[in-house]
Amino acid sequence: MSKQIQAIRGMNDCLPSQSGLWQYLENHLRHLMSQYGYQEIRMPIVESTDLFKRSIGEVTDIVEKEMYTFDDRNGDSLTLRPEGTACCVRAGNQHGLLYNQQQRLWYMGPMFRHERPQKGRYRQFHQFGVEVFGLNGPDIDAEIILLTARLWKQLGLSDHVILELNSLGSNEARARYKDALVEYLQAREDKLDDDCKRRMTSNPLRVLDSKNPDVQAAITDAPSLLDYLDDESAQHFSGLCERLDNLGIKYRVNSRLVRGLDYYNRTVFEWVTDSLGAQGTVCAGGRYDGLVEQLGGKATPAVGFAMGLERLVLMLEALELTSAVPKPVDIYITAMGESAELFAVNVAEQLRDQLPHLRVLSHCGGGNFKKQMKRADASGADIALLIGESEADSQQVTVKYLREEQAQISMTTAQLIEMLKTKK
Ligand code: ATP
Ligand code: MG
Repeated sequence: MSKQIQAIRGMNDCLPSQSGLWQYLENHLRHLMSQYGYQEIRMPIVESTDLFKRSIGEVTDIVEKEMYTFDDRNGDSLTLRPEGTACCVRAGNQHGLLYNQQQRLWYMGPMFRHERPQKGRYRQFHQFGVEVFGLNGPDIDAEIILLTARLWKQLGLSDHVILELNSLGSNEARARYKDALVEYLQAREDKLDDDCKRRMTSNPLRVLDSKNPDVQAAITDAPSLLDYLDDESAQHFSGLCERLDNLGIKYRVNSRLVRGLDYYNRTVFEWVTDSLGAQGTVCAGGRYDGLVEQLGGKATPAVGFAMGLERLVLMLEALELTSAVPKPVDIYITAMGESAELFAVNVAEQLRDQLPHLRVLSHCGGGNFKKQMKRADASGADIALLIGESEADSQQVTVKYLREEQAQISMTTAQLIEMLKTKK
């Protein structure tokens, strides 16, 4: 026997036993976006490597060590997208969607990063993201946070996530802060790891983002970004806080929150959970007013976020919040004998016509009554329809309840449809 080929490490199949939960989550997201009047945008999975180098920043985990980059047959350097924001800005610029316009966009799909696979961290993972262009006030920052809060409520996660908030200020304010931070870090250089030492000069803010607990312990009293904010950014931030207070959305100001990508300014936020262990950030975003111009467009303010869908799925499972996930089958239709089979298909189609929300599975492949009932039970259906030759002759179906103690009963298809209508 030849050796079986396995999937790439860190790239997972989504099996039928899981796809119902994924669809449930995705459907919630689509509906949420329509509730807020946002429109979907779909970008390719592969882009020019330059796009990510220019936007995410050379001195970031993603660009330094996580990108799947390869030369295609023409010798062009391409990269499997590690995130969606740069792609969305590229598309917006290319199609003239951004300048002097307002766009509220969302996307959903796979992203690729060459990381060490572990729970909540994969090499192919999925993000749902929102990007808003052309609006610079705190009102829109509040709106995108508000809509994530609604999602948590819909999914039952509100008590398990908390919002962390910070402002990175303007470029000038951040530059002043950087000087103070570097001075602070230089005095503690011996306590930093090699990565952080390097970043101290190339991208000092990223030291604050270090996942090394020793580094975190060594920099507990680092200067706070919030003390360096320019007046306008400070006003923007207090405007956001006020709106969140007004909406009853709780948050924790975390002056260490800087995010792993370079392009952010002003608002940054993360929704974090302690239900997942180390991989606790489920949603992260902020304002990136400079990125559109940096990627060749005309200056356009922008704000957005991305959430990791695997982490949400893990949370819903861990917290046992999956009871609202629809079952794959409601009704299983058995058929014993040739004329029964013909009648059964007919009944199945009538049910699908009249009750389109029902999931109706028709037994195929014959077999005796016992075998068919076993399959009916394994399908998870609540009801099996038993159709044999006598049912075919009398044009009736026998209804058998699989999950409750109730006598089986025979009726016409029309009666069955009426009964199922009142049941829903
Ligand atoms: P982390 O600090 O966990 O590495 P990040 O800052 O790299 O996250 P972002 O680039 O902000 O993450 O991506 C947004 C969200 O996408 C994260 O908050 C997380 O939920 C999810 N995510 C990021 N990387 C992965 C991954 N490798 N596997 C699964 N989900 C991921
Ligand atoms: Mg990362």
